[in-house]
Amino acid sequence: MSHVFVVKPGEQSRLPAVADKAKRLQARVLAVGSSGDTSKCRICGSQPANTKEDVPPKEAFNRHTVLLRNIDETRSGACVRWRNEQRQGGHFEYSLCKKCNNDTGGWYGREYVSFVKACADHAVVSNAGKILTIELKDIYPARIVKQALTMVCSSSGPGLTYGSPELRKFLLNKDERGLPDYLKLHVYLRCHGGGRSSGVAGIINTKTGSSTVVSEVSWWPVGWILAFDDSHGVVEYNVSEWCKHGYDERRSITIKLPCHFAVTAYPMDFRNPEQVLRGRNEQFKQSQ
Ligand SMILES: [Zn+2]
Repeated sequence: MSHVFVVKPGEQSRLPAVADKAKRLQARVLAVGSSGDTSKCRICGSQPANTKEDVPPKEAFNRHTVLLRNIDETRSGACVRWRNEQRQGGHFEYSLCKKCNNDTGGWYGREYVSFVKACADHAVVSNAGKILTIELKDIYPARIVKQALTMVCSSSGPGLTYGSPELRKFLLNKDERGLPDYLKLHVYLRCHGGGRSSGVAGIINTKTGSSTVVSEVSWWPVGWILAFDDSHGVVEYNVSEWCKHGYDERRSITIKLPCHFAVTAYPMDFRNPEQVLRGRNEQFKQSQ
């Protein structure tokens, strides 16, 4: 878990106005991050986290060598520094026990792969900034969102399910329906290759002072945001209702997904490459 506090370029001057709110938000995130046992499975919380969980499943375009970048807290100061690691055979985490890994993969994995493949043709750079209508025929909505939440839990700390026993129950029992009201799941199209996972993170809007806690996982062609409340106005497509379906309920659904760049490692940062570069240049000028 990282404790880095990151400010968008140009927003430093607004920080004093939201300092108290930011402190409370950071305390909330730290409380989630420091609960639970890091050696235990991120879903059941009781067995050792000793099996390799592919995030996302290998068949969901996750077979290639990846360059993993994590925040290097020992070297980060005024600017964030990164630690790079090359990983062969796709992106994975040692975060689940054998039973949870096998159960969730067997129950939810295949339907998730079908969903991702249905989205792939739409997730292209030329669609960035657009809302795409996608018709999904004969899908099992509950299986898709349960796999997405398995990925969110897998790439977050143990505090996520420790603090949300309803979420744990929802994933451990394939027939369990519905998320608690304070959890909202959103999805978007990621228009370019690669992925990012934020873990549990707090976001504060320095203009309005509104804040939220989220955990985001994306891997081309889709990204998922689990929001802990509605207060920040997440504008992605809300699929929380899909959690109310039964495991064997099949539906044909038309969805309208926003298509975004997800260039940086930070959750809900959808700036395009030019905007990110401009921000970095501004930051560099200010540091001179
Ligand atoms: Zn487990």
